[in-house]
Order: sequence, then structure tokens, then C-alpha cells
Amino acid sequence: MPVIPKTKPYRVGRSKTGLGLFATQPIKKGTKIIRYFGPLLDSKKAEDDAIENKYLFELDKRWTIDGSIRENVARYINHSCKPNAESDVKPRKKKIVIRAIKNIAPGDEINYDYGTDYFKAYLKPIGCKCDACEKKRAKKKAEERAERARVKAKENAKDARKAEKKANKKTDELAKETAKDKAKQRAKAKAKSTSKSSASAKSDRAAAKSRRPAAGKRVKTKSSPAKTLTSRAKAA
Ligand SMILES: [Zn+2]
Repeated sequence: MPVIPKTKPYRVGRSKTGLGLFATQPIKKGTKIIRYFGPLLDSKKAEDDAIENKYLFELDKRWTIDGSIRENVARYINHSCKPNAESDVKPRKKKIVIRAIKNIAPGDEINYDYGTDYFKAYLKPIGCKCDACEKKRAKKKAEERAERARVKAKENAKDARKAEKKANKKTDELAKETAKDKAKQRAKAKAKSTSKSSASAKSDRAAAKSRRPAAGKRVKTKSSPAKTLTSRAKAA
């Protein structure tokens, strides 16, 4: 990590995406923080035009600053879509200054917007990791989660209603079935009792028959001696 004089209001430190530049003192809105510097590249020169790295900062169509040198501490400043600083580009002076656009408190990470071209080329493909984009993503995720939960709750309620309906239908069917069974049982029982009573009547008749005395043993059919006597006396 580069050694930075204590008089400077910043230090290089760990950030979410690697290293970053952090305020060590309050930095007032509008004040210059640091210069972004490096060799000047002339796009008209083939060897300059061939240089390619992430720290190239275009001044105008012709001139570009190659900020990849170690001494350029400003290269540690990360991009933000909602920054607290800006790059003040002065093409005529061939100078770039990073300036606070908000009051920056000690401990805050300093950042500026790298611009659309850089964003499209380097950040969009991997997803911007700045606080604003992270917050946006987190919000979106939370909303998606909430939406999923809503949909699931709706589905659960629907399923519960369906299950209840099914259960009610089953109970109804069961009740109907039971009623049918009971009716059947009643009918069966009735049929049984009818056949039983006719059978018992038959057996009753049979019993009565068997109780009747045999014809030969009947006293009535034998002429009583008294009667015989009177009829004999009548004859005499
Ligand atoms: Zn962003």
C-alpha cells in the first residue's frame, strides 16, 4: 500500500471490492481532494494508442492520462453511481482533479462516477458493486422475496380451501353412505323379522297340532255305558 503523508485527508484501505480511498479528516463539499495523474498518451501515436488498461482517463479525443502508475494514489478511488466526489477534467490544462461534491466524514470511502463508457465496458458485465447499486439490488431482492411469499401464501390459502372443500365433500359422502347403509340394514332387518314371524307361525301351528290328542283315544267317540243302559232299558 502506498505511503501517504499525514497531511493528506485520506488513506488507502480495504473496501468491498479490494482497495479504496477513505477520508481520514472531514472533507468539505467543493474542495479538491487529490489529482489524478500519469503519463500523457497521444492517440495520434500508435505506441500510445496501443496501451490498454483500466486506469486510462480520457481528457479529450486526442489526449488520455495513463493513471496506472503507482504514484497515482487517485487510482485507488472506486466508482460509485451515487458518489460523494467528482472528476473535474480540464482538457486544456491536461489535468484531472477529484473534488468533493458532498461533505465527506472521516471513515467514508471517497468515490466518483467513472462515466458511462467505463461503466459499460467494465462494471455492467460483472454488476456494479457500489453502495447505491448494492442497495438497489438488496431492495429488489427483498421485493422479489416478498412477492414470492405473497404468491406462496395465496397458493397455501387456495390449497387449504381446496382441502377443506374436499374434506366436506367426503364427510357428506360418508354421511350419505351411512344413511344408505342404515336404510339397507333397516330393510334387511325388516325382511328378516317378517320371515321369522311367518316361520314362527308355522311352528306354532305345528305345535298346536301335536298337542291335539290322537283320534282313537278320544273318549267322546266311545259310547258311555250309561247311555247304553238307557237305550237298552228303552228297548226293554
Ligand atoms: Zn453502481
